[in-house]
Amino acid sequence: MTPLAAGILRTLVLCGGLVAGSILAAIVYRVPRGMSVLTREAHCPKCLHPLAVTDLLPVVSFLFHRGRCPYCSAVVSWIYPAVEISAGVLTLVLFMRYGPGWAFAAYCLLCYLAIALAAIDLEHHLLPNLLTISGIILGLVVNTAWYLAGGAAIPVKPSSTWEALWPGSFVDPGVWGAYEVLAPHFSPVHAVLGIIVGGGVLWLVAWLSRGGMGGGDVKYLAAIGSFIGPGAALTVLVAASFIGAVVGLTLMAAGRMSRRQPIPFGPFLSLAVVGIALIG
Ligand SMILES: [Zn+2]
Repeated sequence: MTPLAAGILRTLVLCGGLVAGSILAAIVYRVPRGMSVLTREAHCPKCLHPLAVTDLLPVVSFLFHRGRCPYCSAVVSWIYPAVEISAGVLTLVLFMRYGPGWAFAAYCLLCYLAIALAAIDLEHHLLPNLLTISGIILGLVVNTAWYLAGGAAIPVKPSSTWEALWPGSFVDPGVWGAYEVLAPHFSPVHAVLGIIVGGGVLWLVAWLSRGGMGGGDVKYLAAIGSFIGPGAALTVLVAASFIGAVVGLTLMAAGRMSRRQPIPFGPFLSLAVVGIALIG
């Protein structure tokens, strides 16, 4: 492929990711408010004025109207363009990492779920059943479809994102024995084990901590396990706990948070998911 053709293809993939991001932004707005995600019409939540297609262009409309409703000037939360940009950029990076194919599609779906749940958890401190349970089912469906289409159970080999983005940057650390167990695996068996192990471990944590961990987190990790298997679900949990501890301690040290204040765990799970999707 010529550099021009590759450039055009990547631009198209980026645009596709931004469009997926604007659908995600609608989900992030509607699901926690109990609104239908299937209705086509969009309107300003403040003045109820219907929004034209030109008001719904990902990121562009937000910048053009300077983050306000074009009809009543109500402020639009930065969360929505952030959702669109993350979906667009992640879609492009995953495409450069895996190329067109099944792994690209599977990781895109998982990352879209991660973006939507992180945004909703940040704003509302909840992980809606509609999304977490859909995620559990979607992971099973994706893995089963792959199996039925003749795909073998593949541990995706660590040739690395960095190799795709920056040739020659990848160094083999020589620990792939452990990696094999803790890396993403795709097969219906791994999906079922992922749901049991991912959901089971956090359910145990929730039971032992008596309310310290929400039921939404339990179902979210089960959904992650459903996509990438039990070992990778545990990797995500350990990485998310580490990131969460670092962020929590930093916020406490900076006096921005008290020791008692609960901190949503969903965004940390999502960060770890994105990390494993890029490295896996
Ligand atoms: Zn308005």
